[in-house]
Amino acid sequence: MKTKMLHFTDSYLKECDSKVLSIAEHDGKILVELDQTCFYPESGGQPSDNGQIINDQGIVFGMSYAYKFDNKVLHIVDKVGLSVGDLVHCKLNWDDRYRNMQFHTAIHVVTRLIERDTPIKVSSNNATLEKARIDFTLDEFDREFLGSFEAKANELIKQNLPIKTYILTREEAEKDPDVFRLAKGFDESIQDIRIVQMGDDDAIFDRTACGGAHLANTSEIPKIKFLKLENKGAQRRRINFTFE
Ligand SMILES: [Zn+2]
Repeated sequence: MKTKMLHFTDSYLKECDSKVLSIAEHDGKILVELDQTCFYPESGGQPSDNGQIINDQGIVFGMSYAYKFDNKVLHIVDKVGLSVGDLVHCKLNWDDRYRNMQFHTAIHVVTRLIERDTPIKVSSNNATLEKARIDFTLDEFDREFLGSFEAKANELIKQNLPIKTYILTREEAEKDPDVFRLAKGFDESIQDIRIVQMGDDDAIFDRTACGGAHLANTSEIPKIKFLKLENKGAQRRRINFTFE
């Protein structure tokens, strides 16, 4: 990525200083490219951050959405006035980001439990500020069985497992199919694979490839409450959950 994404090394970073590299207008939207960003760009089922970009005169630009495009992170701001070369200060809406980190990390926990205790592989996931969903294929639709993962997830969260990230080369990651299972969406050109590990080194609960923003400990996940378990037909199942 041309834009350095600071959440990779510190997902609790709420502010940063950046330089404006380019500005474009598309569909009436003003798109700002920065050299580095603390804003999380929507990806991997995790929503974009929102917040403010402040120039050196103190003028505040609302930042509503960040996304990856052409190997850069672009930020949509609410008005013109920024120029290439401007030094700016970025501040993200921490309440939203933290909730996104809670849902995203909870998705990891539920996904791992399902994949550990059944032969299935989760196919996709998504979250909003209100709820999360996990999609997978499974022959049977046993509500009681699927529902049992709510209690399992809440038990796991209470174990206060530390969560850390580190980089493996693609070659190292490919040696471990377990680690690589979520990395298939990673572009071939990406040689450094970011691994998310839950649990201590001698008692690993989960290791997976993911570029998301995660909590530092499972204890920060609120109590999970399953919502509707959906039978989408043709073996397609969906678990929806929120927090109590
Ligand atoms: Zn993740």
